[in-house]
Amino acid sequence: MKQHDAMYIDGSWRPAEGGGTIEVVNPADGQVIATVPAGSAADVDAAVRAARAALPGWAATPPQERAARLAALRDQLVARADEIAATVTAELGAPLAFSKAVHAGAPIAVCGSYAELAGTYAFEEKIGNSTVLHEPVGVVGAITPWNYPLHQVVAKVAPALAAGCTIVLKPAEDTPLVAQLFAECVDAAGIPAGVFNLVTGLGPVAGQALAEHDGIDLVSFTGSTAVGRKIGALAGAAVKRVALELGGKSANVILPSADLAKAVGVGVANVMANSGQTCSAWTRMLVHRDRYDEAVELAAAAAAEYVPGEKIGPLVNAGQQARVRGYIERGVAEGARLVAGGPEAPLEVGCYVRPTVFADVTPEMTIAQEEIFGPVLSVLCYEDEDDAARIANGTVYGLAGAVWAGDEAEAVAFARRLETGQVDINGGRFNPLAPFGGYKQSGVGRELGRHGLAEYLQTKSLQF
Ligand code: NAD
Repeated sequence: MKQHDAMYIDGSWRPAEGGGTIEVVNPADGQVIATVPAGSAADVDAAVRAARAALPGWAATPPQERAARLAALRDQLVARADEIAATVTAELGAPLAFSKAVHAGAPIAVCGSYAELAGTYAFEEKIGNSTVLHEPVGVVGAITPWNYPLHQVVAKVAPALAAGCTIVLKPAEDTPLVAQLFAECVDAAGIPAGVFNLVTGLGPVAGQALAEHDGIDLVSFTGSTAVGRKIGALAGAAVKRVALELGGKSANVILPSADLAKAVGVGVANVMANSGQTCSAWTRMLVHRDRYDEAVELAAAAAAEYVPGEKIGPLVNAGQQARVRGYIERGVAEGARLVAGGPEAPLEVGCYVRPTVFADVTPEMTIAQEEIFGPVLSVLCYEDEDDAARIANGTVYGLAGAVWAGDEAEAVAFARRLETGQVDINGGRFNPLAPFGGYKQSGVGRELGRHGLAEYLQTKSLQF
């Protein structure tokens, strides 16, 4: 596997200022596969300076040329898709087929969409006697998590580049290798020096230095609500823009008229994908009392198919494994009924957790309220649609969700009642152009498509 003992700053790989390193561990077997530099505040400062110096040139680059660079970047991602998938499998633990389809596939689609949007977006509009210019926000500080490590990088870097912004990226410490690979792709795509910069390092050190740096105009963060709250507070104090993509506890609402077997099967697959480490996962399944027992049985059977080490990978690290097993123990202690899985580790080696399904979960239980970030599904029972809406909306989160019904209009009518940023109707497909982001404490702002591009723009009105 390729790795750099350096940071990608101002168009070249340069040694870090400090001497610290971070070990990258394969969570499937606990082996150290690489080390990367632990960046310091000085490295962040060098990267921000490079990004500031590159800003006027990139902001003035015609959108068609930015589009061409993004198309070249997409081509690089396509050419290196197998390497990307193998890297994500090694540092995150996802099964290789999933890494190819999703961890390599989604960033290609998103990068391609911004190559197109950069060339077609209306960066200028007329409103009465005004011409409104949509100008880049400036230098972006991007802080990303490990769960979809390249997707979350591209979902920030591609729209920022399309908008004419320059960027400093601080990727998650668990998954820095795919970020290094991405920096090689940026370089090979001919994106000018300083436009994109990579600083690997620890969250409270390099991440915090980036969030606090006064040379940053917009901080875009994806990760936990706890860190998001801190970053939001820092940005508020400095009066700078902030975008936050945080956690979720999404509801999969199965209305009585739905195809139950399909709704449960797709629902379980949605939770188990990526070992449950998906912020938009439908971790609460809501079923009408009359069909509850049948749904629980179907869910338990579906979960049993996810054999650890075969169909489902490990969690990202031992800390997450312990955290998720703790939540399973808490569910048992609070009186939920375990119908699949459990807290014991399924394999002796690796950070695996048993695919777990809880029945008889009530809305106030911890496992129905908090984001677990593991392969754990809670099945809840509702009496009628009002009850279902109340339960679905009864957490601090509002990122995603699903509604199933025999009739699409019935599902849409219910979806309108949900306080959440995305709802999949009867198993609707992921759309890389649709805005993605949260209501309530799931975040601030939207990613993807033209709504995601608008986050990186600010307006200037000229009156005539
Ligand atoms: P985290 O929020 O700590 O890490 C996300 C990113 O923020 C990483 O790059 C990290 O280095 C950085 N960071 C950490 N502390 C920082 C600070 N003080 N200042 C600036 N940057 C900082 O997430 P985690 O600890 O890796 O995961 C913990 C939990 O967060 C998970 O169990 C899950 O519930 C949630 N999570 C959610 C998402 C999501 O996509 N919504 C992604 C990852 C984790």
